[in-house]
Parts: sequence; C-alpha cells; structure tokens
Amino acid sequence: MNEVPVRRSVPSEESTRHFDPILRPELHELYTARAARLRELATGHELEAYLRLAADVAQAQAQAQAQAQAQATVSPESRSNAVAVDPVEIARQGTWVTHLDTMLDQLIPGASPAITPHLDALRAMSTQARLDAGLALAQHQFHSVSQALAPFLWAAFSLDAALAARTVPLPVASSEESPSCPVCGSAPVASLIYKGTRQGLRYLHCSLCESQWHMVRAKCTNCADAGDLDYLSFDSTEAVVRAESCGHCHSYLKVISQEREPNAESVADDLATLVLDDAASAEGYGRTGLNPFALPDQAL
Ligand SMILES: [Zn+2]
Ligand SMILES: [Zn+2]
Repeated sequence: MNEVPVRRSVPSEESTRHFDPILRPELHELYTARAARLRELATGHELEAYLRLAADVAQAQAQAQAQAQAQATVSPESRSNAVAVDPVEIARQGTWVTHLDTMLDQLIPGASPAITPHLDALRAMSTQARLDAGLALAQHQFHSVSQALAPFLWAAFSLDAALAARTVPLPVASSEESPSCPVCGSAPVASLIYKGTRQGLRYLHCSLCESQWHMVRAKCTNCADAGDLDYLSFDSTEAVVRAESCGHCHSYLKVISQEREPNAESVADDLATLVLDDAASAEGYGRTGLNPFALPDQAL
C-alpha cells in the first residue's frame, strides 16, 4: 500500500480550459470498449470467469443497443420535454424487458454450464416478476433481487436508462459539482482521468445511465472537502486505479487513469480491483461507488 502526497490546489490548466460539464459517450463504442477491457483484464485474473461473463454482458448490451436503435419508433424530439431521466419511471415503463430478451438471445448459446441455469431462470421469469425486480433495483432494494440474476437485470435496465439519457436535454450545469449523476441521480462507478483532447480532466461515470460529469481533481467526490484526501493503491504511486479516500466524510471512490493506461474503463477497471475495496474498507472508509457487476446485497 502506497500513499502519495495530497495535492490541494486545482491544476491551473484545468481551471482555465474549456470543458463540457456533462458527457454522454456513444453507447455502442462504450460497451464494446468495456467488453474488450474486461477480456484484457480477465487473463490470469483471480476472477477470470466472472470478468469474462461481464464482458459477454457488455457485448450483449451493445447488440441490444443496436437493435433498439434500429427499431426505435420514438424520436428524440418527442421525449425532449423531459428534463432528466427518472430511474423509477424507466423501471416501471418496462421497455427494458425487451432489451433483456435480446441480451438473453445473445448470451444463452455461448453460456457456461455454471451460468446457464441463471439465464434460464431469467428467461422463465414472468413479465410482472421482471418488472418487480427492475423496480427493486431502481429503488436500490438490492436484497430483494437474486444476486445471481441482478447483474443481467441491471444491464438491461441500465441500457434503457442510457438510451433515455441520450434523448433528453442536458440539465443546466450547476456551479455545485454533484456527488451523484446530474442526469439520473444515480451513484458513480468511479472517476476517470481522461486522455486525449480532455487530457487530465476528471469525470465521474454514472453506474446507471452511462453519462459522465466533470469534477475538479483532488477534492472529495462525496463531500467536496479537499483537506484530508489520501490515495490507496497496491502497485505504485503510478497505479492506474487508486482509491481516493476522504478523512472528512470517511468515504472513498476509485480514480481510474487513462493517462496511465489508455484502455482503462470505469466499470471494467473498478471490477478488476475489488481487492482494493477490501483494503479501503479495512481502513474504515465506506464505498460510495456502485458497480453494475458487483451490486451490494443491501440498500446503499
Ligand atoms: Zn446517470
Ligand atoms: Zn468527503
């Protein structure tokens, strides 16, 4: 475990450069990149089988997204009176159940014997049971949904929220940087330090609608305090993934650096470093991030 000195000042480059307060990455590209990164991280990993399953789910999301766009009968304009995405409304509306069926079509033929019973169980669920489970996930009632089925249900539900997030007008950016997604209100997975044209900028990645929102670096993403931050990692101070912990509110969120690893992706790199979560929680910090493939077993 290495600790690096705290940087309290906002990098001057960041404070003077123009940036978009909210980003909505193109979904097919995002899911495909996530699947590729999960497969890359899976090789030789302790959780290899699960990382590969998560990659298959992300790839199935890409397929279901393409199908949903091809069949779209709702034009972006017709939904433009909405101000933001309401997860509970998305869950109730139930379009996501169609995405679940498309994803099961993709996943069932190549599934391992360990996973097949779960996919069959999802296939056999009544529409009402699916809707009830989706609503429970939207309300973070994780204990009432089977842990083996929850990641698949979340993936389909999340895809519908992500599609909706790309049709609504962006909320007006407030001067206050939010600990939760300004588009749908959900918790972040992690924060990502960008490469390329946004080099060095930090964005938090939404666990549900796949939007990203800007936050200056070196301040707590949960309580905005900048006075007592620490960075935990296993490899070195140059680690791709670090847990940014806050001594003020005793929480942490991972910071994932594309500057250090260009292929790094929030969901994939967070999932592959769950051992870092054990270390952070052993030091008394509570996780504020939510990973779609490692949902908690109780309400946040
Ligand atoms: Zn969101
Ligand atoms: Zn804090």
